[in-house]
Amino acid sequence: GGGLVLVSTPIGNARDITLRALDVLREADVLAAEDTRALRRLLEIHGIPLGDRPCLAYHDHNGAKMRPKLLAALAEGRTVAYASEAGTPLVSDPGFDLVRAAQEAGHDVTAAPGVSAAVTALTLAGLPSDRFHFAGFLPNQKGARDRALDALAPVDATLILYESPRRVAATLAAAARRLGPERPATVARELTKRFEEVRRGTLGSLAEAYDGTTPKGEIVVLIGRGSSGNVNEEDVDRALKTALATMSVRDA
Ligand code: SAM
Repeated sequence: GGGLVLVSTPIGNARDITLRALDVLREADVLAAEDTRALRRLLEIHGIPLGDRPCLAYHDHNGAKMRPKLLAALAEGRTVAYASEAGTPLVSDPGFDLVRAAQEAGHDVTAAPGVSAAVTALTLAGLPSDRFHFAGFLPNQKGARDRALDALAPVDATLILYESPRRVAATLAAAARRLGPERPATVARELTKRFEEVRRGTLGSLAEAYDGTTPKGEIVVLIGRGSSGNVNEEDVDRALKTALATMSVRDA
């Protein structure tokens, strides 16, 4: 018995949690959370008593100190459930060092999977979903942000970025400059919440729409492939071969 379970929690609507995740939260010996208040609130909403189980904070600032405690609980054969503040742990959230440490110590590690804003936004963006590249949060500093955008420009996939409302206008403007204003793009805001909004356009039109504004709530920015990104040499070869074959048949 025992092991670490990564529990995905809702990104807004409290009912977006799986039955299995609720079972894990009900049965784990130790609960650990990036935000213990948020986890306690979730337990309350779903009628799960904490009882006398420990509910420990584990986040970026205390991870190094807390990891040995959680590993000790795992070594005693206990089940430890870990939830980040919202969505899926490790997706722009803590948990990676904990997973690796638990795996290296030979403990069982599994997941009670669920929602993530990245995938939810991708499904609603109206952009190709066959390939996507999750880039998380861009760097805050302008130079580093522009370099990160330049590195993303040639990526042949739909780009998914997390952004804070304070920076979304600047990010859209910078993305329009570095990737071109014609690239299709979508801003997905407050997903699964009351004021959910999905705004589609181009980097240019969205940069203009958000210029000088600080929208409320949580935001995902998605950017479609550039037109050059759609051209794949194999596809071109295949199209040429088909065209040539058709021509020779007709000419014969
Ligand atoms: N672990 C989370 C996940 O799986 O999506 C992400 C955590 S990250 C610290 C928080 C960021 O995720 C927000 O700044 C926003 O970009 C995005 N996000 C989270 N919830 C969202 C929502 N309901 N609507 C839109 N974006 C959201």
